[in-house]
Amino acid sequence: MSESKPRTRAQRRRSRQIRLSITTSIFLAVVVVLGISLSNGKASSASDSAGVVRDREVATAAPEQDKGEGKDKPRTTSTPKAVSPPDAEGAMDPQVGIAPEPTSATSVSAEGGMVPVISRVNTRDRVVFLTIDDGYAKDPAFKAYVVANKIPMTMFLVSNAAAAKPSYFSSIATVKGSSIQNHTVNHPNLKTLSAAGQRKQICGNATTEKRLFGKTPTLLRPPYGAYNQTTRSVAYQCGMNAMVLWSASMPSSKLYYGSGSKLVPGDIILLHFRPTNGVKNMKKLLGIINAANLQIGSLTDYVK
Ligand SMILES: [Zn+2]
Repeated sequence: MSESKPRTRAQRRRSRQIRLSITTSIFLAVVVVLGISLSNGKASSASDSAGVVRDREVATAAPEQDKGEGKDKPRTTSTPKAVSPPDAEGAMDPQVGIAPEPTSATSVSAEGGMVPVISRVNTRDRVVFLTIDDGYAKDPAFKAYVVANKIPMTMFLVSNAAAAKPSYFSSIATVKGSSIQNHTVNHPNLKTLSAAGQRKQICGNATTEKRLFGKTPTLLRPPYGAYNQTTRSVAYQCGMNAMVLWSASMPSSKLYYGSGSKLVPGDIILLHFRPTNGVKNMKKLLGIINAANLQIGSLTDYVK
């Protein structure tokens, strides 16, 4: 089919102009389309690369961080937590010095119908024992401190004093390793009494403490540490396993040693339920025990 040939110059010019404008507009359209697609491409590639970079940052930085934390964290957690803190706590907090189960328990035995008398426990374990006497004074702060810190104490109670408020002592006795023991009915010097008089004091205490606390005492501490051979046999007859004296005492803020100038394993420390043996001096004593690299043991674990 033949294209309609322009007949006149004017017609030819017009048709040339039309073709030119068509070509131009096509060209422009191509340019525009190209431009758009180019800019789109750039934008998309930019966003892609940004995404990739970001992903790569996440992908590389995160594992490195993880690795870093993985390396550091176990170092900081395992080292101090698994090793240092228990030691540090034990070293820094004197109250933590509670002894584990004994490795060498002393079994005491009565001979000839008389209880043995001990003032120190024969053991190589690095333990000392806290014993506390009487029970007339009942300081709530002291009780709270001992119970909160789980300090095992052997309480040699005068049963008349205990009967005035048994709950005070039974709550201290809830601490593992603590026990309530015999310190007579009303604190006489046993040496001045007849056998019958001593029996009344020792057996009477055992009966009352059994009634108050549900447990019969097995250890006797004679008031003032005063006793005679009659005391030893009466104590045996009243069901005691041993008579327990002491090798160190702390009447207030100063610790007195039975021999030498330091605590040694097996020492039995004498305290009293008195304001002078309150929380402040107890903390001081715990500090001394801890500084001597000793722990607090349970007397009834060692003297059976
Ligand atoms: Zn006493």
